[in-house]
Amino acid sequence: MVFLPPKEYGQLETVSDHIPICEFMLNEQHGRVAHDLSRDPYTCGITGRSYSSREVVDRVDSLARGLAKEFGWAPNKGTEWDKTMAIFSVNTIDSLPLFWAVHRLGGVVSPANAAYSAPELRHQLLDSKAKALFTCIPLLPTALEAAAKAGFPKSRIYLIDLPQEILGSTKTPTEYKSLAQILEAGKSLPPLEDLKWGPGEGTRRAAFLCYSSGTSGLPKGVMISHRNVIANTLQIKAYEKKHREAVRTRSSPVHTDIALGLLPQSHIYALVVICHAGAYRGDQTVVLPKFELKSYLASIQHFKITSLFLVPPIIINMLRSPDVCSKYDLSTVRELFTGAAPLGTETAAEFQKVYPNVLIRQGYGLTETCTVVTSTHPTDILLGSSGCIIPGFEARIMSPEGQEITSYDTPGEFVVRGPSVVLGYLNNEKATKETFEDGWMRTGDEAVIRRSPKGTEHVFIVDRIKELIKVKGMQVAPAELEAHLLAHPAVADCAVIAVPDETAGEVPKAIVVKSPAAGSDEAASESIRKHVQDHKARHKWLKGGVKFVDAVPKSPSGKILRRLIRDQEKEARRKT
Ligand code: AMP
Repeated sequence: MVFLPPKEYGQLETVSDHIPICEFMLNEQHGRVAHDLSRDPYTCGITGRSYSSREVVDRVDSLARGLAKEFGWAPNKGTEWDKTMAIFSVNTIDSLPLFWAVHRLGGVVSPANAAYSAPELRHQLLDSKAKALFTCIPLLPTALEAAAKAGFPKSRIYLIDLPQEILGSTKTPTEYKSLAQILEAGKSLPPLEDLKWGPGEGTRRAAFLCYSSGTSGLPKGVMISHRNVIANTLQIKAYEKKHREAVRTRSSPVHTDIALGLLPQSHIYALVVICHAGAYRGDQTVVLPKFELKSYLASIQHFKITSLFLVPPIIINMLRSPDVCSKYDLSTVRELFTGAAPLGTETAAEFQKVYPNVLIRQGYGLTETCTVVTSTHPTDILLGSSGCIIPGFEARIMSPEGQEITSYDTPGEFVVRGPSVVLGYLNNEKATKETFEDGWMRTGDEAVIRRSPKGTEHVFIVDRIKELIKVKGMQVAPAELEAHLLAHPAVADCAVIAVPDETAGEVPKAIVVKSPAAGSDEAASESIRKHVQDHKARHKWLKGGVKFVDAVPKSPSGKILRRLIRDQEKEARRKT
């Protein structure tokens, strides 16, 4: 049985398969950004500096010319993999124009999480075979360490300019070229030839290389095509059309939103939902470099934010800080969109009680689906549901034995198909084959379909089958931490599992068999934790603790029995 979007959503419009994202966004014929050149799609939440649509269009053009000169790249020369650009930066209003300038040259953008440690960035630089790296001053030391470890030339490191308000008294080193310099140089260069793409080329060519561990193993490069991004942008638009009609009749007839762009632009949620779909429908996005409660609340008040795009831990943070929140005027907020991790029913209910005028919407998606697969129905809302399938997607529920589940309320793996399902994993045929088949994608999430009293089919994500831990919405791959722990002299064997955490959603916990060389439990635990803290991003730290066991439960073939360990831990927690 194939589950489909609600009929009232209507059809998805035709998704172009031969144009790059920059043309879709900026070209006067197709692009919404260029339709109204007077509006401001991006505003810096720190300085208040805005780019108008006109400026965005011009910046992309000049920057593409400058990059072409700097790297000897040309729009129709070589494949996209000859023009891979890594970006390791906090959020800025310059990021999107830079991404689109790379696309204008037929290149690929590989954004890295700004929280990454040097070894994590090194992995991405090597795996993506990036030809250049754009970073920013606060992250430069990490970028330099990663580059040195990867044998990546320093001469290929560039700086994205940040405002003085963020940099403070930090001096800008002069040995690195900046984005502003490349853009300035580009202004006097001759125009670039157009990209000459034939039918299907937008479907085949990668535009972004984001990193996700998928259903198992280490973080892998997810190849996201131009058409994937265009498709999900249009899928969101198709669903939003119904939604906005409903919202408009509920409140003031505002046509576009002032959205908060706070989530990391390196993650698919912010990248597609906020940066692309938002700009495409005409929102103004106020970009903040990172989350800090007071500046976040001050921005909502100052910019009169109407739409919040958040992850559950920020919602919990707001609920736990009523005294701080009450100092700010948040009355302009009309809706809150949450995703990347489950939003607890109690949390949603509590938020609704405190902020009764805010419509809460939940979205579910993955890097591998180029984001949104399901989203809250505009009028038929079930608390705890991840909403309905959005136009263009179809879904199946599969039993562990590979049988299709044809009844409601029966859990199974959520398997989806749609135009934004990505191309696969870079240089990893095995993982690609295990995850993607005939356009269908195995999400590794367990879901049930329930019907509302009105008869609408709702998707509930009830569990995770795959090996993935989500801390504050960010990915932690157990296999990555396990490989790292095994390099510690006190560890003979180990498994890393997720344990629930009130604020972060989940945190990693290590189950360890001590080696004969290990000292006391206390000393070994301290040393193992430090080993992770010294080499891994903060969200990967072992906040769930270290537990010593005699043996890690494994199958006869040596596979870690994660579900069994997780259930044992659950039982132990229940008893305490
Ligand atoms: P990522 O690729 O980092 O976006 O992670 C995708 C995974 O996050 C999904 O496979 C789910 O396990 C989880 N996820 C995303 N959105 C939701 C949601 N609304 N409810 C439950 N889990 C979610």
